[in-house]
Amino acid sequence: MNSQKVVEILHAVSKKIEEEKDFLTELDNVIGDGDHGINMARGFQKVEEKLDTLQTTDIGNILKTTGMTLVSTVGGASGPLYGTAFMKAGMVVAGKEELTLDDFLACMDAAAEGVKMRGKSTQGEKTMLDSMIPALEAMKKAKEEGQDTPAVLQKGTEAAKEGVEYTKTIIATKGRASYVGERSIGHQDPGATSFTDILETICNCVSA
Ligand code: ADP
Ligand code: MG
Repeated sequence: MNSQKVVEILHAVSKKIEEEKDFLTELDNVIGDGDHGINMARGFQKVEEKLDTLQTTDIGNILKTTGMTLVSTVGGASGPLYGTAFMKAGMVVAGKEELTLDDFLACMDAAAEGVKMRGKSTQGEKTMLDSMIPALEAMKKAKEEGQDTPAVLQKGTEAAKEGVEYTKTIIATKGRASYVGERSIGHQDPGATSFTDILETICNCVSA
């Protein structure tokens, strides 16, 4: 995966988020304040505008710029959280123009740790971490079993989707959804859903 491919993936992510904007906002309407799709679409629209100038830089810089753009353009909690995730991932691969599967997994690891730190959150609180962490674990396992990159990403996407299903069964204890308490049961978390959209898009781009 080179810089050009990463830029191509970010274009695809931006498109996917735009397509899912209304659905993500609807989900946030039920347990939050109904802006998750709007927030994510606004952030990735700004990222998209910068992609042309990033094509020739290293992947660390592309991811760092993506993160900084999300932090500065997204008002909700998801801006700083996804922003931190991308910035931390960028630090791990600073200066690299080519990523191996191990590099990608190290990026994902740093991203999840970044969200935990910034959000003071952990798995099981009905947040994006409930799709991120199982996805990461499934990908590490598939990699250890010797599966190739498309298969590893496929496993990660499946685990992320299961994670979204799991968020329907639990009460939110972090973020705005925690205000609705028990009423959050039965509803999937918007952030876990948007993370799954992002990983699925990466998976599709890499497998294409
Ligand atoms: P806001 O909650 O400020 O309106 P968004 O609606 O854009 O922001 O994002 C909500 C999503 O952010 C939630 O669905 C959840 O996945 C995620 N989130 C909120 N707080 C946290 C946290 N402390 N740690 C991890 N993720 C969080
Ligand atoms: Mg919201």
